[in-house]
Amino acid sequence: MDSVTSIFGENVFNETVMKARLPKETFKQLMKTIEDGEKLAPTVANVVANAMKDWAIEKGATHFTHWFQPLTGTTAEKHDSFITPSSEGKVIMEFSGKELVQGEPDASSFPSGGIRATFEARGYTAWDPTSYAFIKDGVLCIPTAFCSYTGEALDKKTPLLRSMQAISKQAVRVLHLFGNPDVTSVKTTVGPEQEYFLVDKAVWEKREDLIFTGRTLFGAKSPKGQELEDHYFGMIKPRVQAFMKDLNEELWKLGILAKTEHNEVAPAQHELAPIFTTTNIACDHNQLTMELMKKVAAKHGMVCLLHEKPFAGVNGSGKHNNWSISTNTGKNLLDPGATPESNAQFLLFLCAVIKAVDEYQDLLRISVASAGNDHRLGANEAPPAIVSMFLGDELSEILDCLEQGKPYGSHEKEKMQIGVTVLPDFNKDTTDRNRTSPFAFTGNKFEFRMLGSSESVACANVFLNTAVAEELAQFADELEKSSDFKGDLHKLILKTIKEHKRIIFNGNGYDDSWVKEAEKRGLLNLKSTPEALAKILDEKNVKVFEKHGVYSPVELKSRYEIHNENYSKIINIEALTMIDMVKKLYLPAGAKYAKFLADSVAVKKSIGGADDSYEADLLKKVSALTGKIYSEVQKLEKAVDGVSKLSAAGEIALYYRKEVFSVMGTLREAVDELEGFLPSSEWPVPSYGELLYSVK
Ligand code: ADP
Ligand code: MG
Repeated sequence: MDSVTSIFGENVFNETVMKARLPKETFKQLMKTIEDGEKLAPTVANVVANAMKDWAIEKGATHFTHWFQPLTGTTAEKHDSFITPSSEGKVIMEFSGKELVQGEPDASSFPSGGIRATFEARGYTAWDPTSYAFIKDGVLCIPTAFCSYTGEALDKKTPLLRSMQAISKQAVRVLHLFGNPDVTSVKTTVGPEQEYFLVDKAVWEKREDLIFTGRTLFGAKSPKGQELEDHYFGMIKPRVQAFMKDLNEELWKLGILAKTEHNEVAPAQHELAPIFTTTNIACDHNQLTMELMKKVAAKHGMVCLLHEKPFAGVNGSGKHNNWSISTNTGKNLLDPGATPESNAQFLLFLCAVIKAVDEYQDLLRISVASAGNDHRLGANEAPPAIVSMFLGDELSEILDCLEQGKPYGSHEKEKMQIGVTVLPDFNKDTTDRNRTSPFAFTGNKFEFRMLGSSESVACANVFLNTAVAEELAQFADELEKSSDFKGDLHKLILKTIKEHKRIIFNGNGYDDSWVKEAEKRGLLNLKSTPEALAKILDEKNVKVFEKHGVYSPVELKSRYEIHNENYSKIINIEALTMIDMVKKLYLPAGAKYAKFLADSVAVKKSIGGADDSYEADLLKKVSALTGKIYSEVQKLEKAVDGVSKLSAAGEIALYYRKEVFSVMGTLREAVDELEGFLPSSEWPVPSYGELLYSVK
């Protein structure tokens, strides 16, 4: 392998390449567009496009694509070659500024959640110059936003960029009040830790449920699961190590800062964490990382499972969204700093996050809601479905002392006073100790831990950025009209702590007592996706998104429709897969084995004198189970048919949750019990043991 420093970013049209290949003036104008969002003149776009094309062709590319992120949650690309016919039947390679800046893919097959019914079917993609173009599989990929012809966002990137603008605008107002005239913008930053499973492809191929749904719909527990805790941070198997090496190389070539890799808690489970970067880029990079994980696994004869819960009984996979805000002058606003002034500013930003998480608990919960993630949240391995914040004992006590005007710590005799008292250094270890919290302060950033492994990080960050932008706007409104900044700041911080401290919980989030305590505090516990989604259109949510220009009411409604539809489709596919597997595999296997047992009993009886208790007993059990499975599968079929009576997306999703999903559970139980009675040679699919330990 060439050295990491030489391959890093080799397939990215980054600042270094731009500087080397663009005329000085063009480069300057492009940087202005990237940094300040200034519109690029068509003549400049032409020059950039041409330089991009030459660079891409030198690297072996033949095509370009507008790479975008439709509401399916994955990425989309349609390749066009650079060729243009020339005289004498030849071609030349061309790429214009117009082609770089805007594309017009047919939008009709992407989900639009009703936007299309009211508007036009056509959509367009618009270049996002803040995320570098890159080459993937011989194609020049241009990161783009995807909108309907009338300007409604049909993708995940557009609202993300809008939410980043919203928080920037409001944070700058607040920062100016603190006397930071040189700050002109802030950016949120994200470092997403990605969990995944690897299984052997040959074993995977024998599981229809994994192929169709990404998770096992059946499977008795393996004798060995994760109870010995010997996999976490354990030695990485050579085959997995080879995969990780290839994956890192591919990611580095794309300028993705892959940094940490290790085994996770469950057998066959691993994690990859990059170094954080600007949210928009972190989101693009995470999408690429997931794509490459699948591709590289395939090269190694494995399959990468990104589903939130591929296996019952062992941990599922999540994504920790490490989040902070930093200024264009390089200051991390969630870093407490060392002086009273910087502490005061930190406390106000902290209060904005506390208030945001409390007032928009529902939105944060919704932002991570999916059929897959419903298996994790609240299931004693992942954060509960209740949103709360962990600040650590030290910071919580400081807030307490501030609120009550008490001294903090043994050495402090004076009352805690904002803008006067210097906050002590928080030890990162003490802030990061609680792993059960959904939203934890970890020294200089927050770690939002509820995200599912397969989902884009866009939605969580859109909602979080918007909620915090709103609180900062309220703070700025109040402080801008103040004639006593220090005094009013002090009051504002105390008021916020008092009104929103119910969201702070430093205890064990996995404990049942927390559920009761949270209820007493009036916190929401939205247990499933359809229940959570019902809240997205609450007036306060519609208003906040509209006010900050992140989603129009029409756009928000479309997300509600699409999310519900998506949930229903997933449960429907899972139910149909179960029915298929039961009828074609499990019931025939049970019947065949019952016949074998019945024959044995009959033969023994006809000979006489031989003990047939084992066969006779087992025959009863197997027959009882196949009978139960038969009746449950009929129930499931009926439940699935019942959907046709409903028409509203929200209603249908709730129906799937209540009427279909529950029967899937009882059907599974019966099949898993049957698995325990049949010899492995008679069981039609690979067992959990074979799957979880398939990669040797
Ligand atoms: P761990 O969670 O394993 O203890 P760290 O807390 O050091 O590890 O980092 C976890 C992730 O948080 C990494 O992706 C890291 O780059 C990211 N991170 C660190 N600082 C910030 C920040 N200011 N903003 C966003 N993410 C950050
Ligand atoms: Mg972490």
